[in-house]
Amino acid sequence: MAGLNLKNVYKKYPNGFVAVKDFSLEIEDQEFIIFVGPSGCGKSTTLRMIAGLEEITSGEIWIGDKLCNDVAPKDRDIAMVFQNYALYPHMTVYDNMAFGLKLRKTPKAEIDKRVREAARILDIDENLDRKPKALSGGQRQRVAMGRAIVREPKVFLMDEPLSNLDAKLRVQMRTEISKLHQRLQTTFIYVTHDQTEALTLGTRIVVMKDGIIKQVDAPGKLYAEPDNLFVASFIGSPQMNFIEAKADKRGDDVFLTFGNSEVILEKAKADKIIEGGYIGKDVIMGIRPEDIADMNTVLDVEKDKYTPIIANVEVTEMLGSETFLYMVCEGNNITARVDPTCEAREGDDLKIGIEKSKIHVFDAETELTITN
Ligand code: ATP
Repeated sequence: MAGLNLKNVYKKYPNGFVAVKDFSLEIEDQEFIIFVGPSGCGKSTTLRMIAGLEEITSGEIWIGDKLCNDVAPKDRDIAMVFQNYALYPHMTVYDNMAFGLKLRKTPKAEIDKRVREAARILDIDENLDRKPKALSGGQRQRVAMGRAIVREPKVFLMDEPLSNLDAKLRVQMRTEISKLHQRLQTTFIYVTHDQTEALTLGTRIVVMKDGIIKQVDAPGKLYAEPDNLFVASFIGSPQMNFIEAKADKRGDDVFLTFGNSEVILEKAKADKIIEGGYIGKDVIMGIRPEDIADMNTVLDVEKDKYTPIIANVEVTEMLGSETFLYMVCEGNNITARVDPTCEAREGDDLKIGIEKSKIHVFDAETELTITN
């Protein structure tokens, strides 16, 4: 078991492309860290540098109390699970899992003990004599994980390990990986481009874009208090609604106005707008679909929580436990996830409520949060 410390790590590929820029992150022992971001943002490169499969251009990588910049991958006490499993087709499951230990000249009895224990944990003990081609995708992925487990590494690295599985199996394996982490009590670093996987698995999430860390936080915090427009739009599905607005003050009240509509801000957020000198300036308002209500379904005692606007309903989608409304307000598309009792129909001008405490406001130029 070990923590890691990455200090100002850069990766410049031989063709001059800088894939990772000034990446600094301290990872505690036993954390489940997720690197998430769109394709090409440098997640895999960072993971491969930790594994030692890719040289770092500058900076330091510490695993435990050892500076690992020049340590060979096999001496780093890490194990990596790849998306394509990389199993040996001609070997049985048992031999696939035992292979790495045999290379290290681990005693036979010890290999046997570790392989059987890993197979038991992963529920593949029935399949030890089979070859990979006689296994399902999920079982193969378990073998790939088993091969990592038997090495008893200090750190597990996983690069999109579920991306080859179908949607149902992916959800199932997600839960299993979570359990595995609890059971092994080891540091996990996991790469994915899937924000749902990130939110459900990670103890902390690192959101990356263009080789840069955009935010590092626990899933709940990342979702509720995104630092910038990119994180706000990347995390959450359906994504947060964004509306270009102007900040305005009348008396003690601060509003965000767009077209003929306006929303009022609660005091804490209003103070930040005033303190930041944003009155009269362009800002971007963000509101998540579930933080918008159909005002007809809101109880009187709850009405104060909302600031109302009128939007035209273009499409309604009833899903049983909730209803999605796709609307337009002052030229802005707005998606809302409302109570299933909502009776709005296509074409209706609907009074919707924006939950005041859930409004996000971003600087229109820097795209950084003003209110979080
Ligand atoms: P994906 O989800 O698509 O795997 P990623 O976030 O893991 O994306 P990386 O594989 O780390 O991204 O790649 C980051 C950037 O570095 C990409 O723009 C990629 O094209 C570039 N890159 C990767 N390997 C090399 C290389 N050997 N030489 C030059 N550029 C590279």
